[in-house]
Amino acid sequence: MTGSHPLLDALNEAQRAAVSAPLSPTLVLAGAGSGKTRVLTHRAAWLIEETGVAPQGLLAVTFTNKAATEMRGRIESLLDIPGSTLWVGTFHGIAHRLLRRHWREASLPQTFQILDNDDQYRLVRKLLKEQNLDEQRWVPREVQGFINREKDEGRRPKHLQDRGDPTRRELIRLYDLYQRRCDQQGVVDFAELLLRSFEVIRDQPPLADFYRHRFRHVLVDEFQDTNGIQYDWVKLICGASGVPFVVGDDDQSIYRWRGARVENMQNFRRDFGATVFKLEQNYRSTGVILGAANEVIRRNEDRLGKELWTAAPGGEPIRLYAAFNERDEADFVIERIREHARNGLPLASAAVLYRSNAQSRSFEEALVNARIPYRVYGGLRFFERAEIKDALAYLRLTQTRSDDGSFERVVNLPTRGIGPSTLDRVRELARAQGVPLWDAAQAALPSLSTRAATALNNFIELVERLALEIDSLELHEQVRAVIEGSGLREHHAREHDTRGEARVENLDELVNAAEGFHPELDDDLPLLSSFLAHASLESGETQAADGRDSVQLMTLHSAKGLEFPTVFVVGLEEGLFPSERSAFDLEKLPEERRLCYVGITRAMQRLYLSHAESRRIYGRTEYRAPSRFLGEIPAALVEEVRPRLSVSRPLYDPDGARHPGHRRHASKATPDTIKPRQPAAGEDTPIRLGARVRHPKFGEGVVIRYEGNGANQQVQVNFEQAGQKWLMYAYAKLEAM
Ligand code: ATP
Ligand code: MG
Repeated sequence: MTGSHPLLDALNEAQRAAVSAPLSPTLVLAGAGSGKTRVLTHRAAWLIEETGVAPQGLLAVTFTNKAATEMRGRIESLLDIPGSTLWVGTFHGIAHRLLRRHWREASLPQTFQILDNDDQYRLVRKLLKEQNLDEQRWVPREVQGFINREKDEGRRPKHLQDRGDPTRRELIRLYDLYQRRCDQQGVVDFAELLLRSFEVIRDQPPLADFYRHRFRHVLVDEFQDTNGIQYDWVKLICGASGVPFVVGDDDQSIYRWRGARVENMQNFRRDFGATVFKLEQNYRSTGVILGAANEVIRRNEDRLGKELWTAAPGGEPIRLYAAFNERDEADFVIERIREHARNGLPLASAAVLYRSNAQSRSFEEALVNARIPYRVYGGLRFFERAEIKDALAYLRLTQTRSDDGSFERVVNLPTRGIGPSTLDRVRELARAQGVPLWDAAQAALPSLSTRAATALNNFIELVERLALEIDSLELHEQVRAVIEGSGLREHHAREHDTRGEARVENLDELVNAAEGFHPELDDDLPLLSSFLAHASLESGETQAADGRDSVQLMTLHSAKGLEFPTVFVVGLEEGLFPSERSAFDLEKLPEERRLCYVGITRAMQRLYLSHAESRRIYGRTEYRAPSRFLGEIPAALVEEVRPRLSVSRPLYDPDGARHPGHRRHASKATPDTIKPRQPAAGEDTPIRLGARVRHPKFGEGVVIRYEGNGANQQVQVNFEQAGQKWLMYAYAKLEAM
């Protein structure tokens, strides 16, 4: 019945079964690159073509804007229908859309604005200051984290108990205060988007009915990374009659630290009585790459258990580079990217993946010097640049005068003689009367000195005038008018240095961004509101693209779901990846390993791994041992690039990692002492279980286990004095006794 549909032709049997599964709750549980996203998009198309579901009857959700755009594109091309009729988006994007439609029911002003993480942080800080709370004791990031965590679990202050704990009591009070302030200003943070839209639908039965009827088919990608409120949200929209179709991979759950619950996969199976499909063939990577990924992830416990195989040939070995420092590492990457380009491959098919944003800098510098275009995802983000946020603040104020964050940001920018004491007066009044700064500013005018009043009034009139002027303009003209009318452009043009120039360029780029902006859906929302929301939601993801073919730079986290022919996973060092805090944490280490699995499985044809002996990061120079994950990849799959005598080989020295103060200084070693012992083919490994050995540092012991082979063979020795240790045989200089 189903086998003949052309949509199913490009799928294997297991995928076909999932795509054409009966119209009941379905879970696809499968490893990386096995076609989950492909199955999800085909399912969407299949529902529309084969079962007559209207395109508007589908809701497809994923985690990043990039993934959402990709998914929309894939469904569009399968069906040849305009994507704008489809509700495809991120959880936040969809929640935002719902709130825009139901702002009244959600008790929000129609023009509510979105606080991104940085805006939220500023607001929290400001509150703490107002409350005279010491920032050392009440760390703004922690207070912010508390608020978001509670929201992510669907909890309001009224649901929280202090359990007699005064710290907790204060945090709850701050959460409450913070939320009141947001409501007063008509602003909504990211976590609030989800929680508020959830509550609106939950508490308005007609709305719940409407959406359940409309979206019978809810499709969710990357389900392993849903948090509490996202799970409840899916449940709510589906109701009893919905047909959710979710896909995920427990081995790729990498957001536990942000509230994701991998248990949601199992809960879903149980709560919905879902039918489970598993996919086992990987179509993305070569055999070598997949082999490495399988070996690494195998070390985690409590997996739902999947084996991936591939019909693809083994392919090139994984190349491993031991760099002197981060510049040497970047040079290596650049050299390989050049080679990649010489082979006629687009730059965009090469990606550099790192553990933390701070690592991008050395690559950016090297790429700039090499004149290779690149694009950073989640690095310094276009919409988060100060000058862009200033311009957006003016635009937001023209829409929502009560937006205090925006008011604070630009009230005296460019400087117009509004002094700190005037502002303090305004803030005080706002606090005393419980009104937004905008209202307080107007109320304060009569009580100010003439000079101060004139200056403040100039600002008020400026915003009113801009609001009026831009009302009938096209979006990009609105943006241009505000950038010029506010004086921001001129302000930066006068800076007379390259930074000022760059800022002006960025402001111009904002006009371009507005010109090229198309809202996701033809909602009735004014274009400017859509654009402002887009700027907030998009912040944290992308840099403005200039359309050039460019190398992709991003964190491992943001690479989830993507694939590239050539991948560099860099900075594989203990203390960096796995990160310092996770190295010996039983919950965090497996998550780091999953992240490593995610990184390796992004690669289609070529995978490069690197680590640096010394690295300057966060203003310090660090010497770190190679990541343990390197030791988990079978040596047979790896080829060391230009092994250098003066550099330690990639190896995991469990002892060095356990005592950060006691690091290997392999560069001090003479070439002889670090020459790895490579057992020749057929040669018996000289390690026998139970053999007695002597180690120069740990003394005598007995071999109790070994793993791997070749240069990566590891042995576990039970030393009489030092206890049990894993060592790399090739380097450990064990002496048989
Ligand atoms: P991830 O876990 O990384 O999100 P995934 O399971 O979602 O991966 P996809 O991105 O859907 O995997 O697919 C991986 C690659 O394999 C894609 O390039 C996809 O087009 C290709 N692919 C999947 N299934 C098939 C198939 N049956 N025939 C040919 N190519 C396929
Ligand atoms: Mg996917």
